[in-house]
Amino acid sequence: MSEARSGLACEDCGEYLWLPQGTVHVRWLRDREHVVREYAEHATSGLETWMEQGLRFLDEHRGHSIVVVTER
Ligand SMILES: [Zn+2]
Repeated sequence: MSEARSGLACEDCGEYLWLPQGTVHVRWLRDREHVVREYAEHATSGLETWMEQGLRFLDEHRGHSIVVVTER
């Protein structure tokens, strides 16, 4: 069973960030961004790589239109 690849896309820049996660996880990261950042401040082991990549992308495109995309 393979899940479709999904990621974040900036509609303003036309840039994509594909992550090895399903749509549900990527959408969760986008919608709960502030919660994830809060957690990261207190987590000694840090975040999973895909979460760090996602947060970095959201930082780089602050104020832009970010959508969750799925490759089928
Ligand atoms: Zn952008």
